[in-house]
Amino acid sequence: MNHYAITMPQLSDTMTEGVVVTWEKQPGDRVERGDIVATVETDKAIMDVEVFKAGYLAGPLAEVGATVAVGAPLGYITDTPGDVAIARDEVVSEQAQTEMIPHHAGTPIVMPQLSDTMTEGVVVTWEKHPGDAVKRGDIVATVETDKAIMDVEVFQDGYLSGPLADVGSVVEVGHPMAFIVSDPAKVSDTGVTIGADHKVKETHAIAPAPADKAAAAPAPRPIPAPVSASGNVPPRARVPGRKVSPYARKLAAQLGVELAGLAGSGPEGVVIATDVARARPSMAEVAHALPQVDVPGQGRPMTSMEKAVAHAMTASLTLPTFHVTVNIDTAKLTAAAKANKVSVTVAIAKACSLAMADFPRMNWAYQPIDKLVERANHDFGIAVMSNDGGLVVPILHGIEKKSLADLQGDWAGLVERARVRKLAPAEYANPTFTISNMGMLGVTHFTAIPTPGIAAILAIAANGPHGTPFTITADHRVLNGADVARYLTALKAIVEAPDSWIQGSGVAGQASASVAAAVAASASPAAPAVSPIPEGNWDVQVVVVGGGPGGEDCARDLADHGVKVMMVNNEPFPGGECLWRGCIPSKAWRAAADVIRNRAHDAEMGVDGTNTPKLNWEQVEKHRRWVQSARGDMALKADRGMKIDVREGFGEFVDAHTLKITPVEGEPYTVTFGAAVIATGAPAFVPPIPGAREHLATGGVVTSDTIWNLASPPKKLGIVGGGVIGVEMAQIFRDFGAEVRMLERHDRILADVEEEIAKSLIAALEKEITLVTGADIREISGEPGRMALRYADKSGAETVFECDVVLMATGKRPDTSRLNLDRVGVELDGAAIKVDARCQTSVPHIYAVGDVIGGYMLAHTAATQGRVAAHNLLGEPARYDQDRDCAVTFSRPQAGFVGLSVAQAKAKGIDAVEAKIPMSIDAKAMITGETEGMIKLVADKATGRIIGVHFLADHTDTLIGTAVMMVAGEMTLTQVAQAIFPHPTQTELFGELARRLLNRLRRTLKK
Ligand SMILES: Cc1cc2nc3c(=O)[nH]c(=O)nc-3n(C[C@H](O)[C@H](O)[C@H](O)COP(=O)(O)OP(=O)(O)OC[C@H]3O[C@@H](n4cnc5c(N)ncnc54)[C@H](O)[C@@H]3O)c2cc1C
Repeated sequence: MNHYAITMPQLSDTMTEGVVVTWEKQPGDRVERGDIVATVETDKAIMDVEVFKAGYLAGPLAEVGATVAVGAPLGYITDTPGDVAIARDEVVSEQAQTEMIPHHAGTPIVMPQLSDTMTEGVVVTWEKHPGDAVKRGDIVATVETDKAIMDVEVFQDGYLSGPLADVGSVVEVGHPMAFIVSDPAKVSDTGVTIGADHKVKETHAIAPAPADKAAAAPAPRPIPAPVSASGNVPPRARVPGRKVSPYARKLAAQLGVELAGLAGSGPEGVVIATDVARARPSMAEVAHALPQVDVPGQGRPMTSMEKAVAHAMTASLTLPTFHVTVNIDTAKLTAAAKANKVSVTVAIAKACSLAMADFPRMNWAYQPIDKLVERANHDFGIAVMSNDGGLVVPILHGIEKKSLADLQGDWAGLVERARVRKLAPAEYANPTFTISNMGMLGVTHFTAIPTPGIAAILAIAANGPHGTPFTITADHRVLNGADVARYLTALKAIVEAPDSWIQGSGVAGQASASVAAAVAASASPAAPAVSPIPEGNWDVQVVVVGGGPGGEDCARDLADHGVKVMMVNNEPFPGGECLWRGCIPSKAWRAAADVIRNRAHDAEMGVDGTNTPKLNWEQVEKHRRWVQSARGDMALKADRGMKIDVREGFGEFVDAHTLKITPVEGEPYTVTFGAAVIATGAPAFVPPIPGAREHLATGGVVTSDTIWNLASPPKKLGIVGGGVIGVEMAQIFRDFGAEVRMLERHDRILADVEEEIAKSLIAALEKEITLVTGADIREISGEPGRMALRYADKSGAETVFECDVVLMATGKRPDTSRLNLDRVGVELDGAAIKVDARCQTSVPHIYAVGDVIGGYMLAHTAATQGRVAAHNLLGEPARYDQDRDCAVTFSRPQAGFVGLSVAQAKAKGIDAVEAKIPMSIDAKAMITGETEGMIKLVADKATGRIIGVHFLADHTDTLIGTAVMMVAGEMTLTQVAQAIFPHPTQTELFGELARRLLNRLRRTLKK
């Protein structure tokens, strides 16, 4: 016969006694777990006494109205029916587990047990306020457990009610943090401060939300990044005849605990999360079973996090460990990871996984007693420093089967959550191997401690004179020294020859058993760069076909490195379209147009008499031609000075190592070459609109190739096509005084420009020119000076626009029809030459760069690709990365971008955010009257890196340089926020944008 005392609990620091208010059960009544047996009044409130011991209520009961001291019995529970009172002299030392909850408070929201080691949690935020309606599945609060900051979800509809445990309160697992009531009139808006000893320190009315915090309209919560696949394991199946809480089923699935046979400690024997967690050996139990040594002094209680780490570390003393170190050269891995936009951490994790293909034991674990868990899943814990300086070990799951790109995606989200300790249990529980990298902290050597559940942990120190020390501490019950030594040797081979497995790893990682061996065989330590230019008795080592920005930069880079290079260009001077028909002449016209446009605003700034500028077309043209010829001359001299063999003539392939050159004068001849670079550009494309191609010959229709022959600026200009070239020309000629009508087949012009920027620019354009979208151009007819452009608008109504000339601005398209590419086997992708990121074509010794390969058709893109091809031909791996490329549309205001827009970033799986500032609030813009437009900064939330900047501003062409450096230099928001920009300049907006975004992120992450 057992008796248990129901004692008066001490619910607050100040409570010494309580008054019995009611008895809800009578002696002899059956009591089930979770039943409320009485109510008592404390110095703070009336509380229900809930018992978690099944049995029968027994007397003597404290009388209603009686004052009972803390710790003294209120009544008893017996397991014998009919035993209504215990004997007078009986001593009862056992206590019935009770819970005190405020009377009529509603359904308690209890501190959930979110991990096996969690005993208590700290309230971090309340996401709802008392009185707020809550729905099943709502997140009402976040709590800090011993591992991470996690969301508290409710599973009942109603209204949030107090007493709410204050932010910062430490609440024991299973104890109420707040309540849900079904009637809004019953909401209590009180709060309590609960101390580390779980007692109520203070009860008070909830402080009103600060005025600047819109309590009624809560800020939108960031959508939590999805938990990796294994975090979404389906809950364990229900066990017939057993009641199991949904969270317990979920936790059981995550922790691999069988529910059958588990004792339930929840109300009515329901199996709850605590029961599931207890079914596993607890680190705390193991740690406390070890001898404890007396330490003099006054200790302070550890925080939950400190306790969890201490228990795990003490429990790790049960592992018989040894250490093995190998020095590894990580330079190539670091470079390759960077080039492939993968973090070095992820690349190392992948390398560790590949090396395990031959050494699977590294991934096993010892299981008490005398068992080995053989695991094929590579779920590696990777130590990360949290923002508060603590250590968090999120798990990168499925490394053996995922591509580097996918792993990088997973990792970005994990790190973000780890830094703010917002990891779900599956994201930190049960790693199969662990990596700790302290290289960035400059340590020369260190060892890490494996915890029960893994057999090995890798510690990476800083790079030293002999390489980077990789030290593995391993459990001798699973691994022996030779295993680990051989594993580290395989890992070294893989890390030091990354190209064989990093490149093209968009395909799911092929962790074949032969990788380590193949890499080990091919890796030659400190191998110098080997040029892939085939050796032979060639006339030149490399022939470059085309002398535009792509060809010229490539030839210069090669010549600079001592390569014998010939540049064949079918024009008298280098510079290509950019110098002769593109960037330079168009900007010379734009500069004249700018002067006219700017003068219109002089009067606003107080300068009269300058607003009637007159165009001197002859002088505009003279100036433009002078710039072009002076630059052409300079370029040719520089090329020749660099010992580039510049040939004028048309080049075509005879075979894979022979080019035929047809000069303007004289006989065609051939040259042999080791490698070739095709940089022949892309001419303007004219679609088959009736009359368009025919009138090219008369000059009634012009393209960007022929517009430079205009004898005078048109008074009425028809433009077909609403791309960048069309828009630039439209505004130039508008400023020169023309009436302009632009016809676009699609619904929107500037299709390639970021949506918001394009929308604003289009609005500005519509004030100056007539814009017709959805236009169906039926025919172009007439003669130069009297052209007729017949088209139907969206409604089908036909109009004829009469104009002096029609500009076909319908894009550019590579034309390789006369290069004989089929003879050498160079493959096409549509009209463009197909290349990889290294600008290599399907024929290994032939590269292609610039407009001829499609993509961004821009001069700096071509030049960059030219240098990429040159470096690869020199044996130094280089790649063109479109995600860091940029462009300026020389409209007014100028549109521009560098890197990615939010939409582009999201399409790539990057969790991107943006901030924007309108130019109208900038002091400098107000002074000069250039207030149209905006600047937008796009950042990767996970890393804080700036990945894009978008402009619509009058000085984009100069402002964008700073943005290019931010994106190219992978600068973070913090770096830009802390940089000092001069005042008053528009560059200050970058700092402002970065600070705004940082503040926003900080707030949303905190929330
Ligand atoms: C109106 C206009 C404005 C532009 N403005 C800008 C701008 O502001 N900023 C910007 O970045 N870009 C601008 N561009 C785009 C820029 O001009 C091109 O992207 C750039 O010139 C492409 O360089 P490329 O080396 O690939 O080719 P190209 O510059 O076209 O050079 C190719 C060269 O190869 C020669 N060639 C072709 N076939 C052969 C052959 N078989 N044998 C020998 N030689 C051959 C051609 O004659 C030419 O000299 C503009 C273009 C236009 C039309």
